[in-house]
Amino acid sequence: MKRYDVIIVGGGPGGSTAGAFLAKNGLDCILLEREVYPRFHIGESLLPASMPIFKETGFYETLAAGNYIEKYGARFVDYKTDDEVYFGFDNGLNRDIPMAFEVERSQFDQDILAHARKLGVDVRQPERVKDVEFHDDHVSVVTTKGSYTARFLLDCTGRDSYLGKRLKMRHSHKDLNNFAVFAHYTGVKRYEGRSEGDITVGLLPDRSWSWIIPFKGERTSVGVVASSALKSPGVTLEDYLIECLHSSPRLREILRESERVSEIITIANYSHGNEYMVGDRWICAGDAAAFLDPIFSSGVHMATVSGKLAALTIVEALRMGETLRQGGRDRRYEETVRQGIQRFHNLISLFYQGSFVEQMKKTLHRENMRAGFTSAVAGDMWNEDNFLFSKGVL
Ligand SMILES: Cc1cc2nc3c(=O)[nH]c(=O)nc-3n(C[C@H](O)[C@H](O)[C@H](O)COP(=O)(O)OP(=O)(O)OC[C@H]3O[C@@H](n4cnc5c(N)ncnc54)[C@H](O)[C@@H]3O)c2cc1C
Repeated sequence: MKRYDVIIVGGGPGGSTAGAFLAKNGLDCILLEREVYPRFHIGESLLPASMPIFKETGFYETLAAGNYIEKYGARFVDYKTDDEVYFGFDNGLNRDIPMAFEVERSQFDQDILAHARKLGVDVRQPERVKDVEFHDDHVSVVTTKGSYTARFLLDCTGRDSYLGKRLKMRHSHKDLNNFAVFAHYTGVKRYEGRSEGDITVGLLPDRSWSWIIPFKGERTSVGVVASSALKSPGVTLEDYLIECLHSSPRLREILRESERVSEIITIANYSHGNEYMVGDRWICAGDAAAFLDPIFSSGVHMATVSGKLAALTIVEALRMGETLRQGGRDRRYEETVRQGIQRFHNLISLFYQGSFVEQMKKTLHRENMRAGFTSAVAGDMWNEDNFLFSKGVL
């Protein structure tokens, strides 16, 4: 049986980015994705800090070709007071990352996976991984269609977290016990010009919040996130979503002529992490390693950063004739990823303390504060020039 260098499980942004870096470094890899694309997926607002990674793989050209709306900022509105605070990404510390895109994931995931295939990744789809076995010098995988062997396994299975569950090392974040309910609409009122593609996050009662993510064309993603304790059992999802969205006159006005064009979807208890991200012949990236909370749209960015770093960790191990090991040279991978997660977690905690808009309004008039927070909101979490990190604010 042919022995690949790497088997990647999962063809979301994490697996596709990892595949692109492995292929660019000349490694022979196969990617197994269980779903037929295009398919719906949540995670529609990208961060500017991902853009340099997409430029490295060459995927940026597809992103910027005109199918996706440009996102220059993030607007946080307190619907109780009507106050708002705006993070324009060109005010961040790194002037090279002034914008990102809002993406319908059905199209985006198809595009990013096609790019990995173009770079030489052997993509098999639909093909679900059913079983994995680790041996001294290789890993073997059984799928719905066959068996494969490779030197390493890269788990990019998203919130399914294949290895996390299989190795019983997955835990939930009890402090982020939220659920999200959302749908796609047409007719949602938009900002004009350069602001059309901004994300709007709205503060609602009881620390709930809403998102409005406009796509290229007519469609807009609208969702609400709330504590799992808040929804009473008798209320339907649709009623709950409408009740939340109608709780503010401003939000009602934005949605006055809107029409729902998708089913309503809900996702609960999505915050989790793995005890380890690397082990004997395996490594986890993206949501398969950890996912915190959607408030700062960090998921795809963490998936692309960790996908890239996981791929480069494997490239280095092969170059040195070494394996992957918990606590070995690969410690650097886990430490780097956890540092980003921790900084996002600090930002997320600041949001859930309440009064985020009020606090930020007081803070952002100082130029260094504006630059520091804007950088963090843009996802630039490993920028050691940001004094918010060195001072322990984030
Ligand atoms: C409510 C909510 C809102 C969010 N909003 C945003 C946002 O605005 N911006 C943002 O960046 N992120 C957002 N996220 C997070 C985002 O969805 C994820 O972080 C991101 O998709 C992670 O990418 P990934 O490649 O790690 O995993 P995924 O995108 O989930 O991809 C994993 C892939 O693995 C495949 N797979 C799973 N198991 C197997 C198997 N056994 N065999 C083969 N294939 C398998 C799946 O089919 C899937 O295609 C949000 C999350 C939630 C819950």
